[in-house]
Amino acid sequence: MADRLARALAYGGTVGALAAVTTGLVEEARRRHGTAPTATAALGRALTGALLLAATIKRDERLSLEFSGDGPLRGVLADATPDGDARGFVLRPGTHLPPRRGKLDVGGALGRGLLCVMRVPLADGALYRSVVPLESGEIGADLAGYLLASEQTRAAVGVGVFVDTDGRVVAAGGYLVQALPGAADQALDAVASRIERVATPSELVRDGLGPVDMLQALVGDELSLLGERPVRFRCRCSRERVAAAIVAMGRAEIESVLATDRHADVTCEFCSTRYELNERDLQGLLEAAAG
Ligand code: ZN
Repeated sequence: MADRLARALAYGGTVGALAAVTTGLVEEARRRHGTAPTATAALGRALTGALLLAATIKRDERLSLEFSGDGPLRGVLADATPDGDARGFVLRPGTHLPPRRGKLDVGGALGRGLLCVMRVPLADGALYRSVVPLESGEIGADLAGYLLASEQTRAAVGVGVFVDTDGRVVAAGGYLVQALPGAADQALDAVASRIERVATPSELVRDGLGPVDMLQALVGDELSLLGERPVRFRCRCSRERVAAAIVAMGRAEIESVLATDRHADVTCEFCSTRYELNERDLQGLLEAAAG
């Protein structure tokens, strides 16, 4: 099952529902960052949550989630675009805790802390930023808490990652079901009680359900599908961006690197891609840098 995200409306357009299968992109994130199982689950849930929330915003913005806590993982960053590109990392990739109630203990790994949600314009425009306390550190409940506190939206958010005994990601996915203007309490209660009976997102994905099947399981037949599209792990870093960042350090800083290390190794924190710049590269950048 390729990674995909589906969007739908239900109950006459008063309930919005999204679901995603993200197994491939979460496994790619695990490989890139070498995360241990609990860290993999935290990163995968955050990446999936970022994709789901990004699918609800304007097309000229990207969405960024920053979870920070006092637990051993310290923090998770994930960002995604409405087009379905996601990238992210955790601060302590080696974090692994004993499972709690048969599940990877993401809440224990994050601990108590804050969730910062940002919507960043791709070109010009104002940045939107909201900070809320973590509800449980389990990611899904934290995102629902954010939607209620900051956007006054009643929502259910489920995100899950199943990691095999060898550490690889076998299934990952999630859903977001939210009340839209005009939603009746009766419809919301019906959806909520249905969601409570449905298996977890990673179980649904393990059972071979795609995003549209997941929406049907979650919301029922009253579904009008808006669309389905691929999602993927993709970072925006490039050699050009790394060069621009070095130029921005200024002439004195580049001269000091040339005088000591004579080369620069830069690793992108979002995707772990390593960029090497040798003496000639740095000399070229020196000419572009301001005094
Ligand atoms: Zn990158």
